[in-house]
Amino acid sequence: MTIRAATNEDTRVTRHRSWAEPWKIKVVEPIRMTTASDRKRHIEEAGYNTFLLHSEHVYIDLLTDSGTSAMSDRQWAGMMLGDEAYAGSRNYYALEDAVRTYYGFPELIPTHQGRGAEHLLSTILIKPGDHVPGNMYFTTTRAHQELAGATFHDVIIDEAHDPTSEHPFKGDVDLGKLSTLVKRYGASRIPYVSVAATVNLAGGQPIRLANLRQVADFCRMHGIKVILDATRAVENAWFIQQREPGMRHVTVAEILKMMCECADGATMSGKKDSLVNIGGWLALRDRGLAEQARGLVVVYEGLHTYGGLAGRDMEAMAIGIAESVEEDYIRSRIGQVHYLGQQLIGLGVPVVKPLGGHAVFLDAAAMLPHIPRSEFPAQALASALYVESGVRAMERGTVSAGRDPETGENRTPSLELVRLTIPRRVYTQAHMDVVAESVAEVFDRRRYVRGLRFTYEPKLLRFFQARFELVARPAASVVTEMGSDSNSREIGEIGVRLQ
Ligand SMILES: *Cc1c(COP(=O)(O)O)cnc(C)c1O
Repeated sequence: MTIRAATNEDTRVTRHRSWAEPWKIKVVEPIRMTTASDRKRHIEEAGYNTFLLHSEHVYIDLLTDSGTSAMSDRQWAGMMLGDEAYAGSRNYYALEDAVRTYYGFPELIPTHQGRGAEHLLSTILIKPGDHVPGNMYFTTTRAHQELAGATFHDVIIDEAHDPTSEHPFKGDVDLGKLSTLVKRYGASRIPYVSVAATVNLAGGQPIRLANLRQVADFCRMHGIKVILDATRAVENAWFIQQREPGMRHVTVAEILKMMCECADGATMSGKKDSLVNIGGWLALRDRGLAEQARGLVVVYEGLHTYGGLAGRDMEAMAIGIAESVEEDYIRSRIGQVHYLGQQLIGLGVPVVKPLGGHAVFLDAAAMLPHIPRSEFPAQALASALYVESGVRAMERGTVSAGRDPETGENRTPSLELVRLTIPRRVYTQAHMDVVAESVAEVFDRRRYVRGLRFTYEPKLLRFFQARFELVARPAASVVTEMGSDSNSREIGEIGVRLQ
C-alpha cells in the first residue's frame, strides 16, 4: 500500500512550506554579546579594521567562510581514525578515493591548503614571460602565477564587473577575449587557462557548464590546458542545476563530475566546499605532471602522501567531500545565503545581485554617498556594523584594491562592498535574522557613519593589517546631508546607540 503524503492538492491551497537546516545540534560553542560601548572601544583598538578584532569580541562572525565550517559527527569520528604514519597513511588513500569518486581526477597531491596547490601548479606549468588568462583574479592564485613569472589577464564577461547586472552566470569566460589573447601572445606562451567556479571576487558568481565546455573545446584545439579552481565548485554545480536549461534533474554530484571533465587538473581549498578547517589538494590527469608535482611537494609541504596535513585532517576532508555534494546540504547552504540576501533586499538595503553562493555583498558606495571613496565607505560601514551589533564583516573595496604600483594612487575599483560571508553549518536562520535586522538598523542611520583615514598602511595586502581613525567632518556639511533632522546625536558618530 502506498501511503499518500498529505498534499495541498486536497484543498487546492498553496501553502508556504519553510525549510530548516538539515542537521541538529550535538555540541555547542557559546558566543557572547558585548555592549555597544565595549564594541566602540574594541573597534578603536583594532584601528577600525575588522581583521584586527579579537574573535572573542565578535558576536556573529561573517568575516570569511574559509576554514570556519562546522564538521559533522561523522567527520569528528573520522578524526579519531587518523593514521599518523609518516608514509602511506590509510587516510591518504581515503582522500585519493574521494577525489577520484567525486571530482574524477586520477592523480592526487595533498597540500596544507589551496595556496599550497597553487604554488606547486604554477611552478610546474609556468615559464617566465608566460600569460595566464582567467575569469577574474583571485588574490593568492594570481600571486603564485606572478611569482612564477606569468602575467594574469582577466577574460571574464563584462557583466561580472557591473554590480547592477542580473546576469545569472556572471562567472562565464568571454571566449572573444580569450581568443584575442591567444592571437596576441600565441598558444605556446599560454600554459593554461585558470577557471574559477564559483568566482569569489565577483561575489560568488557561477559559470555555466556550457561555457566551461566551450572553454575546454577552445583550449584543446589550441593545445592549452584548463585548470579549474575547484574551491567552490560544488556551490557552482548547484547554480547549474537550478539555472542552466536541462539540468534540473541532474544531481549536484553528477554536475560536479561533468565540470571536472572539462579540466586537465584542479587546485582545491578544502577549507571552503569540503567542510574542513584546514586542507587542500592539487589533482591532475597527466601522470608525468603529477610526478613533477610530487617532486616539489616534498620540498614545500611534506611527503606526497600527507602534503602538510595530519592523517586525521585528510580523513575529515575525505568525509567532508562526500557530505558536500548531498542535495539537502547544498540546498540549505546556499538557501541560507539567499535567505539573508532576500531579507536585506526586502528591507531596501542595496546588495549585489544576483545573490552569490557564499556571501551577501552590501553596496557601500550606494549606502553611504556622503562618504567619498578616499575615506573608504566600505571600511567605515563594516566598522559601523560591528559597533551596532557585534557582527563582523569584511571590506571589499578601495582598501582591498590597494595602490597602483605605477602612480602610487589608491585604485578605485568599480565595486565598493562589504562582504557578509556565511560559514557552513555554523549559524541558524535565527542568526541570519539578527544579521539582517542589524544591517537594517545601520542602514536607517547611515548618515551618521563617518569616513576613515589611514594611521598605518602596510605595503602589501594592506587590508589585513591597516589601521584607521575617524575623519572629523565639518559640521556644516553634515547638517546639509542630514536635512532637517534635529535628532542628531554626536554628529557623524560611527555606529549608533553610542551615547
Ligand atoms: C580561499 C581560496 C583560495 C586559496 O585557498 P587557501 O586554502 O586559502 O590557501 C583559492 N581560490 C579561491 C577562489 C579561494 O576562495
